[in-house]
Amino acid sequence: MKHTKVMRYQIIKPINDTWETLGHVLREIQRETRAALNKTIQLAWEWQGFSAEYKQRYEEYPKTKDHLGYSALHGYAYNRLKDEFYRMNTANLSQTVKRAADKWKSDLKDVLRGDKSIASFKKDCPIDIVSQALRIRKDGSDYIMTLSLVSIKYRKELERKQSFFDVLISANDKTQRDILDRLIAGEYKLGASQLLYHKKKWFVNVNYQFEKEETAFDQDNIMGVDLGIVYPVYMAFNNSLNRYKIEGGEIERFRAQVERRKKQLLQQAKYCGDGRRGHGTKTRIQPIEVVSDKVANFRDTVNHRYSRYVVDMAIKHRCGTIQMEDLSGIAAEDTFLKRWSYYDLQQKIEYKAKEAGIQVVYIKPDYTSQRCSKCGHIERDNRTEQATFECKSCGFKTNADFNAARNIATKDIEKIIAETLK
Ligand SMILES: [Zn+2]
Repeated sequence: MKHTKVMRYQIIKPINDTWETLGHVLREIQRETRAALNKTIQLAWEWQGFSAEYKQRYEEYPKTKDHLGYSALHGYAYNRLKDEFYRMNTANLSQTVKRAADKWKSDLKDVLRGDKSIASFKKDCPIDIVSQALRIRKDGSDYIMTLSLVSIKYRKELERKQSFFDVLISANDKTQRDILDRLIAGEYKLGASQLLYHKKKWFVNVNYQFEKEETAFDQDNIMGVDLGIVYPVYMAFNNSLNRYKIEGGEIERFRAQVERRKKQLLQQAKYCGDGRRGHGTKTRIQPIEVVSDKVANFRDTVNHRYSRYVVDMAIKHRCGTIQMEDLSGIAAEDTFLKRWSYYDLQQKIEYKAKEAGIQVVYIKPDYTSQRCSKCGHIERDNRTEQATFECKSCGFKTNADFNAARNIATKDIEKIIAETLK
């Protein structure tokens, strides 16, 4: 299984250039990177606006291929921006545009929901450097990085022979050196990395990838994860009666708290409007937007914590498989699940499960709450109330979420349900 990690290295000095030259180029490239990121976001929002209007008129979403000439938005954005941001190495620029487009995509739901403000990249944003633009070599005990940063056109403007810069990097501790040695030996693979400026120093965040042996858990050992309203997460197993649950409500409580704060700010803005005048609309609406981001950030943190717990429980029980419901179909009606963003949680569970060598299987959610996990009988009336399950056939009585999680943890559950319904 492939793993990706990042290690930070400080640039000590350029080898064949002065700091003045390298510093100037880095600042220029950083300026272009920031502008390219923000312009990509702008193009993405223009497309989003067009998309929404199109959907209203024709009842379907437009295809980027038909209207922009590119199957992906970032392809279109790159083509639009490449002449304007001509100083950057083209492969790096393409990566920068892709980064912004990905950010827009992942933020879209939160922004439309009002939980997050539209991404805006700051002056200190990192510079992208793709794997083909970064070389590492060893010279005695020194580590030298070759950074391809500028385009041919900009290289000529700078009156340079090469478009790359050799820099000496600091690798003081053993782990840092070990990673570089493995990269040089080809044991690790370089990924898309970044340069960043922090406290008046330049650093390279090296992204490296490596294969790790898979944990050999039994794939027939299954943990079922039920996502619900009373408990956001309920876990059960096919080979034991163990159960775990997560008490919910914290995201909703936090949202309510933020909404109150937002209201207060709006009130203040009304009465103290004069104080902020002269700074433009941007500064006037800013505090409210900052507050909105908090809900999304909080939810992100909470989902990281929940997913860690879920995967840890699967590891504890040596489960080779986690089964979850494919909830994409019901998202539209169920506002609770939509707000809570189960999708994000499932993504995080999937990511951490894969890291541990656990496969994730999605199953259809139909009848998992109506089926008796003990005898297999399916009947709508089995679930008398929200919290309790009681089987009309065998009398089995238990917590409704536990019963559902047990069904979800059953091997070939979709097939079994289809057979029963016949
Ligand atoms: Zn039963």
